[in-house]
Amino acid sequence: MEPEPVKRTIAIVVAALLLALALGPSSTCARQSRAGEPPPSKAPDRNNLRAASPAPEQAERLVTAYTLPPTLYEKTQHLERVRLAYFITAPLYGLMVLWLFLRWKLGPKYRDWAEGGSAKLLLQVLVFAPLFVLTLDIFEVPFDVFEHWELRNYGLSVEGWASWTLDWLKGEFVDVILAFIIVAILYAVIRKSPRLWWFWFWLASLPLAVLLIFVQPLVIDPLFHSFEPLGRKDPALTQALERMVERAGQSIPPERMYWMNASEKVNELNAYVTGIGSSKRIVVWDTTITKMTTPEIVAVVGHEMGHYVLNHIPKGLGIYSVGSLIVFYLGYRLIGWLLAWRGGAWGIRGTEDLASLPTLLLILSAFVLILTPVTNLLSRHFEHQADQYSLEVTHGLTPDSGQVAAQSFQLLGEVDLEYPDPSRLAVLLTYDHPPIRDRVRFALTYNPWAHGGHGEFVQ
Ligand SMILES: [Zn+2]
Repeated sequence: MEPEPVKRTIAIVVAALLLALALGPSSTCARQSRAGEPPPSKAPDRNNLRAASPAPEQAERLVTAYTLPPTLYEKTQHLERVRLAYFITAPLYGLMVLWLFLRWKLGPKYRDWAEGGSAKLLLQVLVFAPLFVLTLDIFEVPFDVFEHWELRNYGLSVEGWASWTLDWLKGEFVDVILAFIIVAILYAVIRKSPRLWWFWFWLASLPLAVLLIFVQPLVIDPLFHSFEPLGRKDPALTQALERMVERAGQSIPPERMYWMNASEKVNELNAYVTGIGSSKRIVVWDTTITKMTTPEIVAVVGHEMGHYVLNHIPKGLGIYSVGSLIVFYLGYRLIGWLLAWRGGAWGIRGTEDLASLPTLLLILSAFVLILTPVTNLLSRHFEHQADQYSLEVTHGLTPDSGQVAAQSFQLLGEVDLEYPDPSRLAVLLTYDHPPIRDRVRFALTYNPWAHGGHGEFVQ
């Protein structure tokens, strides 16, 4: 689903920076995957809409814990198993594809074509990078098709195959451009500085990451969805949100809040924070606005505001910069060892050879896979902070704000098909948000105001 701020930052950077390029079409495009974003929010007339939408009675019900009726429970349980299997097999499959790429010596073949065309590195990369990315992404197609087929099957996606295919092509287009830039920089520094390239490449990756995060909402996201200023789309909701922003003592200009046309592709609810500097913004999906009540939407946007105010994207970037330095250094040590061992058999002349790219990617992908529980843990921490922020900012503004937040989570869980009883393993491997069950419990029990105290983030 749409990305999470932190997870997103880490993913955009580590993944987009080197891997996603290859391992899976654009982690950058708006693709739904997991435990939805925070609670989405809603707008003006949603009370009416809600009455017209399915299961209106659930909406008004007093929530004491996240529960589902038996049939829905079974559905989420099955989906949970599919998700877990997918999250384990997809990256392993990606590693296997890279391994096959090496065994079949596709790298040397593409490199020979590239070198046959020109002696200039930049022109060679112009041939090599697209071939490389497209080959790997074509190998990934069965997984992508399965994922979309499942999402449609469960009613989470309503996007037709033609539109999906077009999105896939756009994703490839973005990937190829990113790959060209990154691979050109990578091999230029490897050739200039054979022993310290990992450091120079890391240094170059930092402004590149900032740039990517900056342009994401301006250039990449609009390729997949349409956006409009929330104030124009839903003035009443915007007013309710402005009261909350004021209550928080913040200034988030209304032009930093956007409405996204998600409903043409998905049924899921979501909202998110994206961008950096002047492109930083809060985005609310129209599905959220349609299905939630105004107070629920305010709770959801309060969560997004938490990410915004607590600077989760810049913090994620800081974490990335430390983690990636270590990973690039280890990658440098390991690729030397791996090429000394198998380089000859794979037809790779050395690290400076373009054909070494799959080897490097194999190593970095393995690190990303190993680090997933850690990045998930960090993401869950930031998400929990955002939940807490939302509870604090809506306290005293929304009557019975804890209950309203719990209701928004309940609805989010029902619509996005969140399993109520995830195992510890599933949470460790695949949850970038706390399980809904825990979020509901927290919303209902968090009460720093009980004895005259105050919130941690909002005084
Ligand atoms: Zn969040």
